[in-house]
Amino acid sequence: MESLRRALSAELQELEGRSLYRVDRPSAGAPGPWIEREGRRLLNLGSNNYLGLTEHPSVREAAREAVTRWGTGSSGSRLTSGTLALHRELERELARLKGAEAALLFPTGYMANIGTIPALVGAGDLVLSDALNHASLIDGCRLSRAEVRVYRHADVAHARSLLADRERFRRVLVVTDGVFSMDGDLAPLPALCDLCEERDAWLMVDDAHGTGVLGAQGGGTAEHLGVSERVPIRMGTLSKALAAEGGFIAGSGELVDYLRNRARSFIFATAPAPATAAAALAALEVLRNDPAVRRRLLENAEHLRGKLREIGFRTGEGETPIIPVHAGPAERALALAAALEGRGVWAPAIRPPTVPEGTSRIRVSVTAAHSAEELERVAETFAAAGREAGLL
Ligand SMILES: *Cc1c(COP(=O)(O)O)cnc(C)c1O
Repeated sequence: MESLRRALSAELQELEGRSLYRVDRPSAGAPGPWIEREGRRLLNLGSNNYLGLTEHPSVREAAREAVTRWGTGSSGSRLTSGTLALHRELERELARLKGAEAALLFPTGYMANIGTIPALVGAGDLVLSDALNHASLIDGCRLSRAEVRVYRHADVAHARSLLADRERFRRVLVVTDGVFSMDGDLAPLPALCDLCEERDAWLMVDDAHGTGVLGAQGGGTAEHLGVSERVPIRMGTLSKALAAEGGFIAGSGELVDYLRNRARSFIFATAPAPATAAAALAALEVLRNDPAVRRRLLENAEHLRGKLREIGFRTGEGETPIIPVHAGPAERALALAAALEGRGVWAPAIRPPTVPEGTSRIRVSVTAAHSAEELERVAETFAAAGREAGLL
């Protein structure tokens, strides 16, 4: 007992010494454009609630109704008693959103990735993975027992060179984020599609941050870049723009049928709760019927990114609601986050191991629910906090 406590507390102290110790801090109310913490109201620039739909009246009402009709839990795994008509309806709508034949729902996006990759590839196969891929893709690769080769971020020529011995492998899977979660930039999907078609590889795109955000219909990064039909394995989440919780894979009928039979995180977990599925369905309806919400999101993102650049911050090349404000070392990012919070703006410092050493940043995410005045205030606060933290 004592040895466990000692071992862990030594490691925690070491994390603290490197500015890498973390805590989760509870909010007192709904995480909308503002959050309440420790008795203070803060402007919230740290949420993935891109469309602001967690507080939308029809989304809330759908969740309430689902509890009344279906109860609070699904009470079983999907292949036993847990599949409700609601899950099927949601899968049909997700397939429609992605322009795919079918879709399969998982309890979380993380589980969609760690279930799908090992179902598709194993020993004797090869996975190519972008250096900045999300941890859930990395963990899926590790679980698969396939050989994993990491290509430099968004560098298709490097990926191509790693496929020089393609014939040694039975199957090859290429995995990438669509929108990179900590940088907000887009994967070079057209060139990756070319590579995969040329070298007989399968492309899987994790579009947690593109789904409901990018593309003419909100279908995501592949739609935005005009390659939906060419990406056979399209993953998305319900936990960000879609105001709920869950992940999914969209693709051919065969892919979905196969994963239903082979993806362990689908098979051995309880089906998503009725209120969650109903909320996502209602969010999809808002997405279809009210395109102004998405327009406002993209305008807000462009506006704030422009302002932060004007002030003198380095914000990367993105065109999405994720705006990295680069600070360098972890302690710099922490100082900037603290200065922002002191002035009433909440945006998280992102540090290793989430991002590479020396690239710590504040990750700003804008939502459709932020008003022009609120964004103005965010920009002013960043200017003052940047000076205080010695970054400007
Ligand atoms: C958030 C995220 C996930 C995980 O999705 P959850 O539904 O939160 O489990 C997977 N991939 C990326 C790129 C993400 O940003």
